Parts: sequence; structure tokens; C-alpha cells
Amino acid sequence: MKPLALFGGTFDPVHLGHLSVSWEAAELLDAEVRLMPAHVPPHRHAPTASPAQRVAMLRAALQGQSRLTLDTRELEREGPSYTIDTLRQLRAEQGDRPLILLLGADAFAGLPSWHGWRDLFDYAHIGVLNRPGIDAAWSVELAFEIASRRVSDPELLHDTPAGKVVELEVTPLEISATRIRELLAEGRDPRYLLPAGLFDEPSLLAPYRH
Ligand code: ATP
Repeated sequence: MKPLALFGGTFDPVHLGHLSVSWEAAELLDAEVRLMPAHVPPHRHAPTASPAQRVAMLRAALQGQSRLTLDTRELEREGPSYTIDTLRQLRAEQGDRPLILLLGADAFAGLPSWHGWRDLFDYAHIGVLNRPGIDAAWSVELAFEIASRRVSDPELLHDTPAGKVVELEVTPLEISATRIRELLAEGRDPRYLLPAGLFDEPSLLAPYRH
């Protein structure tokens, strides 16, 4: 069975960086990839768009292909979206299927601030996606924890359900939702940083325009 990879985030809004790196990860890992919007992100400011608006944008963005899908379980749960809880639930559903948590290099560098981060490896592998223009230095505790887990061949993640870390060389795209929100707030139209579907329905980007 193909591994199941989960790409979590606020997706406020979903942009071509998210879509391109998760698409390439699906290819490199030969995995099913689900984009999983977070409800109340424990480490960050509240999103500008509501959960329903972020899901509407994701649905519009994912149209026309079937390799990347949407998993809204975290939005359906009350309270903060702790990844460890989501992975426990997925493990119970998926049996021994390899699970892979996909994280951009910035998110991976911040892993030690996550609730129960060391336990994540009991439930999933981690795939780290390179991301330009950000500080992604690893702390000593992160480097120490992953030293024995790192593998260079993504294929090795097919052999066990959880516990390894692989760095995935995806095409670097310096796109962030923060920058896109700024452009939209200034009245600009970042058409080629966002999936075309977001421009088809004017209400989708309305939360970011002033
Ligand atoms: P914001 O600017 O609001 O912080 P973001 O663009 O970082 O948003 P998120 O929804 O916070 O997007 O990111 C979800 C996941 O996608 C994180 O793991 C993040 O590292 C990763 N990610 C986002 N943009 C890119 C990119 N251009 N390249 C690689 N990974 C990315």
C-alpha cells in the first residue's frame, strides 16, 4: 500500500508553494498526500480567513487533479490542533500503513516547540521539504533526536510504519502566505503566486482585501 502523507498548515491562503512542494513530495515518496488545514494552530496568530473560507479555497485549489486531497478532520475537532492527536487517530485508522508528516524546513526547525514532539516519531515518518528564504537552522536537541532516524532514500519510508526522517529535494519556491496577504491588502493581484481557481470566485480572496 502507498504511504499516506499529511501536509498540515493554516493555508491562509493555500498558495502555489504549498501545492508544488506537496505534489513533488507525492512523486518522490510515491505516496497519497492529504492537505490538512489546522483549526486553532497552537503556535501562531489566528488566521485571517475562517475555517470554512480556508476549506473553500483549498477545494478550489485542488480541482482538476486527484493526487492531492483534502482532510478536514482537524477543523471538525474542538480546540487546538495537536498533530500528535491527529497522528494517533490516523494510526488507528490506517493500521501498519506508513504515515509521513510533511513539513516545510521552517516548520521542521520549530518542531521542538510542539506538544509531545518526540512522540510524533512513534506514529509517523517526517518528510522535510526545503524552503528558501527562511531560517531553518536545527537546534541541538532536534539534531540529536533525528541523528539516528535520518535516511537519504525516500523509498526506505515504505518499509516501516514510522520513525524515520527524510529530506526531500523539491523545487525551491520562495512563496509565503504572509507575503500574499500583504499584497492582497495593498490592493495588488498576486495572480501567479496563487492557484488560478482562487480568482474564479471573487468571494474566495475577499477576507484579505481591505
Ligand atoms: P504564513 O506565511 O502565514 O506563515 P506559510 O506560507 O508558511 O504561511 P503555512 O500554511 O503556515 O504557509 O504552511 C504550511 C506548511 O507548508 C508548513 O510546513 C510550511 O513550512 C510549508 N510551506 C509553506 N510554503 C512553503 C514553500 N514555499 N516551500 C516549502 N514549504 C512551504
